[in-house]
Amino acid sequence: MIEVTFHNNLRVMDNAVFASAMRKATVIAVAQTPSLETAQDIFRYLQLQRLHKELAMLGVPLVLRDEVEEDAASLLYDSSELTTKQGTPYKMFTPFYKACRQQKVRELIAKPAPQKAPYETEFPQLALPQWAQKLADVWSQDVREVVEGFAVEYYGLGRDFPSTNAVSRLSPYLAVGAVSPVQLYQRFGHNASFIRQLIWRDFAYYTQRYYPTLASEPLREQFAKFPYQRDVAIQRVWQRGETGYPLVDAGMHELYATGYMHNRVRMVCTSFFTKHLLQPWQDGLHYFATHLVDYDEASNALNWQWVAGTGVDASPYFRVFNPTIQQKKFEADAYVAKWLPADYTAQPIVDHKTARERALRAYETIKGEN
Ligand SMILES: Cc1cc2nc3c(=O)[nH]c(=O)nc-3n(C[C@H](O)[C@H](O)[C@H](O)COP(=O)(O)OP(=O)(O)OC[C@H]3O[C@@H](n4cnc5c(N)ncnc54)[C@H](O)[C@@H]3O)c2cc1C
Repeated sequence: MIEVTFHNNLRVMDNAVFASAMRKATVIAVAQTPSLETAQDIFRYLQLQRLHKELAMLGVPLVLRDEVEEDAASLLYDSSELTTKQGTPYKMFTPFYKACRQQKVRELIAKPAPQKAPYETEFPQLALPQWAQKLADVWSQDVREVVEGFAVEYYGLGRDFPSTNAVSRLSPYLAVGAVSPVQLYQRFGHNASFIRQLIWRDFAYYTQRYYPTLASEPLREQFAKFPYQRDVAIQRVWQRGETGYPLVDAGMHELYATGYMHNRVRMVCTSFFTKHLLQPWQDGLHYFATHLVDYDEASNALNWQWVAGTGVDASPYFRVFNPTIQQKKFEADAYVAKWLPADYTAQPIVDHKTARERALRAYETIKGEN
């Protein structure tokens, strides 16, 4: 008998460890007992319910444990051996991307045949508090429906425009492995701009393997001395979506209501937090970690560092997004109208120009270091 852990790969299709175990012996599936603390916990609970049914159809029981050893997340390419010509790890995305694209994507792994007749069991039903029930309603769709509903042909042109429905919204499913990147490649592999984003996810894992402290320490070491001005009250204003910058506030409301935020808006909110408000990126990263349904330690950390300017392949520090211009440039008025509360009256907590200059002065103090 073999126990197979399901944590980062909550699926029976294209699951190498599960398929191989099913070939060798009788399998028992093991997963962590669902908890209801973070947004992702709620999403994981929904996905476990589905997985439980799929396993039962294959005659595989699912046992819940308080602690499980996590299985490795599934990536698009095997980048474990990829290095630059000098034998050092890639620090820049584009050369990493090109190196990946020269490799072959592995074949899909078929769903195993049933080991016993299907059986009927009940998955433990948890009483969801109201906030969790709301999230569960937003994310009730099965991954197959989300894949079917995604019109990849509009992706490249539309992905930066939050008011359109051009992005896939597959991130939570990828984060818990309800679908694998290779399954998505089979379907959407002809669309280079979509595949490029999946490779950003690979790059986040790759970077974290070489820099295990990615979520806590700046990749550019001089930023350890950056004069952030931690202020919990200011952070709360940002969290509540009351900064007075409509795009930032709409994003924070979307996050709170759905556990998701459009990527373009994530960048604006994150930049605002670290640069306009001079708050340490690690604090914002932690807030995202508990509120995102698609929370993924590597992707979250890489992106926070990228926007905060502390990453190796980061946008330069002096690139301070102007939230008002971003709203215009990416035609986000409809998005803003959708997510801001009807009684929204917040006034700007900081003046853009003054805040930008303050951020650049703060940067000057560490610029020459290292
Ligand atoms: C500050 C910040 C924090 C983030 N935290 C997370 C996180 O915790 N988990 C997470 O999955 N993504 C994170 N992202 C990346 C990105 O915002 C989301 O992956 C994307 O918005 C998810 O929506 P989608 O599935 O519709 O994306 P699509 O645009 O449809 O992209 C398809 C898939 O590609 C991957 N992807 C896309 N963009 C990125 C990216 N920049 N970095 C890594 N992978 C990417 C995701 O798996 C995504 O599902 C973060 C971005 C920022 C700026």
